[in-house]
Amino acid sequence: MIASVIVDVPAKQTDRPFDYKVPDHLQGIIKTGMRVVVPFGPRKIQGFVIDFQEKSSFSNLKEIEEVLDIVPVLNDELMSLSYWLSEETLCFRISAMQVMLPAAMKAKYEKIFQPLANKEALPEAVSSLLNREGCLPWKDAVANGLLKILQELVADGKMDLRYKVKSKTNFKKIRVISLAKSKEESEQLLESLSTSAQKQKNVLSYLLASQENVKSVTEAKAEAKVSDSTIKTMLNKGYLTESYQEVYRDPFEHRSFERSVSFQLTDQQSASIKPILESVEQYSHDTFLLHGVTGSGKTEIYLQTIEKVLSQKRQAIMLVPEISLTPQMVERFKGRFGEQVAVMHSGLSVGEKYDEWRKIHRKEVNVVVGARSAVFAPFEKLGVIIIDEEHESSYKQEDAPRYHARDVAIERAKRHDCPVILGSATPSLESFARAQKGNYKLLTLSKRMNNQAMPRVSIIDMREELREGNRSMFSRELLEQLQKRLEKKEQTVLFLNRRGHSSFIMCRDCGYVMQCPHCEVSMTYHRNSEKMKCHYCGEEAHVPSTCPECQSEHIRYFGTGTQKVEEELTKLVPHARVIRMDVDTTTRKGSHEKLLTAFGEGQADILLGTQMIAKGLDFPNITLVGVLSADTMLHLPDFRSAEKTFQLLTQVSGRAGRHEKEGEVVIQTYTPEHFSIDLAKTQQFELFYNQEMTMRKLGQYPPFYFMALITISHENVLKVVSVSEEISQLLKQKLSSQAVILGPVASPIARIQNRYRYQCLIKYKKEEGLKPLLKAILNDYQSAKKDSVMIHIDVQPYIMM
Ligand code: ADP
Ligand code: ZN
Ligand code: ZN
Repeated sequence: MIASVIVDVPAKQTDRPFDYKVPDHLQGIIKTGMRVVVPFGPRKIQGFVIDFQEKSSFSNLKEIEEVLDIVPVLNDELMSLSYWLSEETLCFRISAMQVMLPAAMKAKYEKIFQPLANKEALPEAVSSLLNREGCLPWKDAVANGLLKILQELVADGKMDLRYKVKSKTNFKKIRVISLAKSKEESEQLLESLSTSAQKQKNVLSYLLASQENVKSVTEAKAEAKVSDSTIKTMLNKGYLTESYQEVYRDPFEHRSFERSVSFQLTDQQSASIKPILESVEQYSHDTFLLHGVTGSGKTEIYLQTIEKVLSQKRQAIMLVPEISLTPQMVERFKGRFGEQVAVMHSGLSVGEKYDEWRKIHRKEVNVVVGARSAVFAPFEKLGVIIIDEEHESSYKQEDAPRYHARDVAIERAKRHDCPVILGSATPSLESFARAQKGNYKLLTLSKRMNNQAMPRVSIIDMREELREGNRSMFSRELLEQLQKRLEKKEQTVLFLNRRGHSSFIMCRDCGYVMQCPHCEVSMTYHRNSEKMKCHYCGEEAHVPSTCPECQSEHIRYFGTGTQKVEEELTKLVPHARVIRMDVDTTTRKGSHEKLLTAFGEGQADILLGTQMIAKGLDFPNITLVGVLSADTMLHLPDFRSAEKTFQLLTQVSGRAGRHEKEGEVVIQTYTPEHFSIDLAKTQQFELFYNQEMTMRKLGQYPPFYFMALITISHENVLKVVSVSEEISQLLKQKLSSQAVILGPVASPIARIQNRYRYQCLIKYKKEEGLKPLLKAILNDYQSAKKDSVMIHIDVQPYIMM
């Protein structure tokens, strides 16, 4: 038998299957989708088995060294999906496979077999080899020729193969104790101990009284009110025995979720869910665009669709953008489906993510709620894939493989004959256009629950404020509204339209701005560390006390970061209690959740934050939303900037007045006449859509054109220019006259980590020859690594920088 293996060397020359002989002792054990160790040149590396053949056209094949899995980690569907992914996004096959697995599986690991059944139920050959922790290391299993037996035991559910990830990502274990002697003997012991051993007696009574015979040490100590030394003494005397138990790391372990039941759907909801449920029942693939204003009950539709899917013994993937994967969101799914839900997002540790993935792989859960990469969850019988806030740009991955979760979802759903639901209050232009054409089925929820009115929105022209002498970052209107809320004890959300906090240092005399020495971007000021930092390469510098250009002392941080706003708030409304949420206050694990809970419990009057508070917040007492600077995003070099501005303003406005109390929104701007801001006032998506479509048509942008962005970088600027010219010439020769080729021009960020960057942008409608041409370009430059020129190709890019 010959196995075809994709090896873990992400390079053009190795981006193809390599043939290896399957040694006799691994015949019948190795399956496709398993990871193996193979000799590769002088090294031993990891690879994925993708196929088997009788013969190979190569002679002198080497043998597979070792197999790393007992059950395939990639099933057939995911294997073929990885092929599709590498074709679509022009990435290496190995990258496409690795992106589907949790990071822990790429790390170094040690493998162990863990019994799931009693020791007595295992064959003697296996049980006699269990180590002190009750498991069988892989190495020992191989050394004793037990793989075949173990494979059967795993199939019978009596054993499980686990990866003991080295470094920090071990399985989580807790220390447990139990009575060493029988119940009767322990009771006698309790009687016989003198009162001077009262603490030991407490432990004995506690263990005797409890139902389970094994207790965690932490719990026992707390309940019996004793310290470690008592436990130690009792272990030494042989009253107790101790061992370790593996537990799943549960990021929500200290929370209980209140069970919720389905609501009786409103007429609009019923009308929308009907075609979705039909598609589920009939095992047919359809893509639905669920366009519903904020608070119109989209989530309830997701929940009831999933319920249907579960009743068919199928599984569901629910994608939410990273920043709106809030505890509130998780609670709604855990509340409805309890233990059947796995949660995956970047806030989890590598180990926690791995544990959640294992629950899916072992079919212990049927629903996954997660960010982008959860679209690869290894479910085998998908009944629906849902993408909430489908317009969010975080669904596009910016590193290879540069995939969009929406495309992957639709591709998987086709293979599983199930529907995809794309939900949003402000769908992406691409999706809405597809729905208009009938490619997607449009479902509309136009009313909020209980018919609450949409919040009243006022737009404040900040130039006017300045003309009338108000130099504050708060308009008079916003300040007045804010004070009213403080009096009425209602809550306010203040939103700063900026990524993170981008305070930069500027000299007020000469205009000098501190730049990163390696990248063409200004450095940002980080107050907590009192340092200047480059967000692209991590370069740090001291904060200058005088201007390096003109020696002026008037150099200070500029721009309105959240910290600056907080300072101003302290001056304007000194009694208000403020919670600030930004990259600085939410770096620690769980801090995001803590801050939100505190705000929800009314521990603060004002929640001040960046993008991360725009979504998912649902508190009844929020009656005012203020947007401090609506236009910062409008000026980015991005054809989607108007769309993003409209979406964001609509999202934040949706935070106000979601329940009984009416909501109000104040948007401050320097460009009130811009249609994306003007239309956010009435939140009329269709009007915005029509106007923006006209702009896109004129500018030849998506959804009228497809795009591909080629970025070329090198340390020598002349080299970059000449290669970019070559590529652009080639494109002009080979593509049809309908294709528009822009560039080469310097990228908006012209240098990163000392590499100069140029780009060519291709806009096209139908271009059969494009993919092969792009592949050829990649081949040409990647394989020869021509003078270390780097080429990146992003098909349907979201970031043009
Ligand atoms: P969206 O996801 O569109 O923002 P939600 O699903 O969060 O809207 O619904 C808004 C509020 O209305 C939530 O508090 C939700 O529990 C409630 N809700 C949704 N559907 C119903 C229903 N059919 N009956 C009563 N309340 C509902
Ligand atoms: Zn200066
Ligand atoms: Zn830098």
